[in-house]
Amino acid sequence: MSGVAAAYQVAREPDVEFTLFEASRRLGGTVETVRRDGFVIECGPDSWVTEKPWARELAIELGLEAEIIASNDQRRRTYLLQNRRLVPMPDGMRMMVPTRWAPIMESPLFSWQARLAYLREARRAEELKQSALRDGEDESVASFVRRHFGDEVTDTIAAPLLAGVFGGKIEALSVCSVMPAFVKLEREGGSLISALQQQRGNSAPVFTSLKSGLETLVERMAQELPSNAIRLGHEISSLTRRGGLWQVKLSGSTEPFPEVIVATPAHVTRQLLRPIHAEFDSLLTVDATSAIVVALAFSAERAKHLRIPRGFGYLVPQALNRDRESEDDPQLLACTFVDQKFSHRAPNGAVLLRGFFGGDTAPALLNQDDASLVSLANRQLSRGLGELPEPDISLVRRWPLSLPQYAVGHLDRMTKLAELSDSFPGLHLIGNAYHGVGLPDLIREGREAGRRAARA
Ligand SMILES: Cc1cc2nc3c(=O)[nH]c(=O)nc-3n(C[C@H](O)[C@H](O)[C@H](O)COP(=O)(O)OP(=O)(O)OC[C@H]3O[C@@H](n4cnc5c(N)ncnc54)[C@H](O)[C@@H]3O)c2cc1C
Repeated sequence: MSGVAAAYQVAREPDVEFTLFEASRRLGGTVETVRRDGFVIECGPDSWVTEKPWARELAIELGLEAEIIASNDQRRRTYLLQNRRLVPMPDGMRMMVPTRWAPIMESPLFSWQARLAYLREARRAEELKQSALRDGEDESVASFVRRHFGDEVTDTIAAPLLAGVFGGKIEALSVCSVMPAFVKLEREGGSLISALQQQRGNSAPVFTSLKSGLETLVERMAQELPSNAIRLGHEISSLTRRGGLWQVKLSGSTEPFPEVIVATPAHVTRQLLRPIHAEFDSLLTVDATSAIVVALAFSAERAKHLRIPRGFGYLVPQALNRDRESEDDPQLLACTFVDQKFSHRAPNGAVLLRGFFGGDTAPALLNQDDASLVSLANRQLSRGLGELPEPDISLVRRWPLSLPQYAVGHLDRMTKLAELSDSFPGLHLIGNAYHGVGLPDLIREGREAGRRAARA
């Protein structure tokens, strides 16, 4: 997405010649939509957060305004799987922070110790403000949440929520990079609960997408590029600097360019830039987890046998689901009830489920064939949803090393990386390893790099 957005922006600038090299046979990277028998199946991202404007602005610019859809928020409810039972997340939660007391007190998710920890947080404002992170400091998400709410909330809610986005471990993730708004609230007033209770609720739907799927954005941008500018199946094997130009090496040829926008995943970018300066090696060492998506689509006829609760889906906290009966712990991290989150993604009465695997177990799963992964998804989904019939359509996508983990100290490393890359004229680094993994941030970043490179 970042690379295509950059190319799209360059194409809009007057009189600039450029080439977009893409190793695979299609554009879009992890953005891929399969449209089949009335189902719109997202193989990677399924939406963007409404709060950030850049994806919406791009869609409108591309003439896709009529395609824009909001999530069905009257059905918005997320469940947590607790020993084969789906328990709704209490109403009024902003991530792991409650904005209302009654739902917390009534929820079977929490022990009395966890409820007490929530109640105490609001009264520890001064102490929390004193111990807040100073400018330039960082800590892990786990340690930040633990300081506010204790172990149980950290394991039961914070861990699965962030695993659903990053697939990784909250012990390693940087709180300043992934929850900057909470860090700011802590600095200002100490208690997150008091701060959020004072904020007025925003009633806009949380997620936005396109009726025909997110790949439409990529397809429309590609239509705006000169066809001879796109070279699919062209893997870049090295970048060198000679005679004031970047020499881009492909199999069989080397081509010179004054400006180069590198939009490859961090592990590839690291290989490309390591020979240019040793420090790229350490600054681009960004751990990434792999993701596996398994979509199961049930026609209206088969869906009659399903009992899917009202909501957007559920998360699987590993801490609540050590399975004593089967000895195997669940590998599923989350499941989306796609047809409820967005209408237009399944025919009337049909059901579309999307299981998401990642984290520690992903490397082993990447090597399994589609049939095994579909049957694994079926078994693990049945823990929360009861026995599932055979789906009419099943689809598996593997995304190796696709979700970078912003580790503690990430912002500091990014400042150093920016300084280093700025010392090489005409070099621009974009992609999800740096300043945000979500599509709006990548679109903004890609377009800014395109503008800078074209005007240099
Ligand atoms: C399962 C999943 C669900 C997600 N859900 C959401 C969501 O709902 N909302 C959201 O906002 N974000 C979501 N994300 C995150 C978001 O989709 C990604 O962060 C984003 O799409 C990554 O874009 P990118 O431009 O960084 O690169 P990528 O999509 O990783 O693309 C990199 C491109 O570089 C190409 N390439 C690699 N090496 C070379 C080479 N040597 N030469 C030439 N080309 C090369 C690749 O083929 C690929 O096309 C999700 C991610 C995953 C994996």
